Amino acid sequence: MLFATDEKTGLKAIIGVHSTATGPGAGGCRMWSYPSSAEALEDVLRLSQGMSYKNIMAGLPIGGGKSVIMKPEGDFDRKALFEAFGRAVESLGGQYITAEDVGVSPADMMAVRSSTKNVVGLPEGQAATGDPSPVTAEGVFRGMKVCVERGLGKSDLSGVRVAVQGAAGHVGAYLCGHLAEAGAELFITDINEPGLKELEAKHGAKIVGLDDIYALDVDVFAPCALGAVINEDTIDQIQAKIIAGAANNQLKTRAMGAELQKRGKIYAPDYVLNAGGIINVMSEIGIGIMGKPASDYDSGWVENKLVGLENTLGEILDMSDKEGRPSNLIADEVARNRIEDARSGKVMENA
Ligand code: NAD
Repeated sequence: MLFATDEKTGLKAIIGVHSTATGPGAGGCRMWSYPSSAEALEDVLRLSQGMSYKNIMAGLPIGGGKSVIMKPEGDFDRKALFEAFGRAVESLGGQYITAEDVGVSPADMMAVRSSTKNVVGLPEGQAATGDPSPVTAEGVFRGMKVCVERGLGKSDLSGVRVAVQGAAGHVGAYLCGHLAEAGAELFITDINEPGLKELEAKHGAKIVGLDDIYALDVDVFAPCALGAVINEDTIDQIQAKIIAGAANNQLKTRAMGAELQKRGKIYAPDYVLNAGGIINVMSEIGIGIMGKPASDYDSGWVENKLVGLENTLGEILDMSDKEGRPSNLIADEVARNRIEDARSGKVMENA
């Protein structure tokens, strides 16, 4: 954990490196108006652990980390602030690799890049990978198929009714494309009305109200907008048997996983399902930072990791069925065990 301050630029940041068992701790930088440094610390601890779990479950040769910047009040020199943040990243000597997250843009990462090479998600440069959303959507789509096979006994998605929350977003829109192509019946919501109209025209999707998305009579609910959407207010409204979407931290509390299981739902743990984005970025880390040849990260490598994602999800759901325990807790346990195995020198599967 590194607390970094810089009086001149107003930087107050915390970098949390949760695990380097399988490689440098990688995860984005969030800038937020935190009410206190205690809340910033809580966020970085939770988020960096989440990145370790996500990265190890995706079979990537990186650990987990995250950073938060406490947004200065009033006007500030953004470029200078991110350059100072870059110096803090650099001081960790490659133990942490940063990228953009909430409140941070690719342009900010270019400012970070002027102080350290340990940054990805750049808009330009030798290994820049661009928008990760198509690969994230591909992973969600494949994982959804795994759930549908188990929950509905169907090997494809034709005629399967899917409700997509945040459908007009980066991941949501690509996901809708895959689902429409597979013959699924689409129900969509978003606060972006023009985006919804476009999807309606393109895929014949049915637009529903923001609060109506939960109680729809559908087979799958795909949260692709905000976190904490599975909570005490929504859980009894949800009709779908399967919950499988891209949003981070979909369960408001860990106990929601057990509540879903009690209600006979299949929940695809979010960080397992949405790892396509980090799989995509891995080539930028490998080539741009670790100096590996571009051939290590060809489309075959990405495909291999996506198949790994499907297999890992299948294993978690099988264990959940067999042991009668919630899938989110099983996923956390598998992630922790894999990190421990890596620490004790055991070779990671799917690496
Ligand atoms: P995005 O901002 O492009 O899309 C989010 C969409 O949700 C937007 O269209 C927005 O209008 C909509 N939205 C906001 N509030 C809403 C509400 N109350 N009800 C319905 N819709 C609402 O973000 P994204 O990149 O598509 O990511 C979506 C989710 O997936 C996020 O939780 C993100 O953290 C997670 N995720 C994304 C990636 C990626 O590759 N982009 C990778 C992993 C996880």
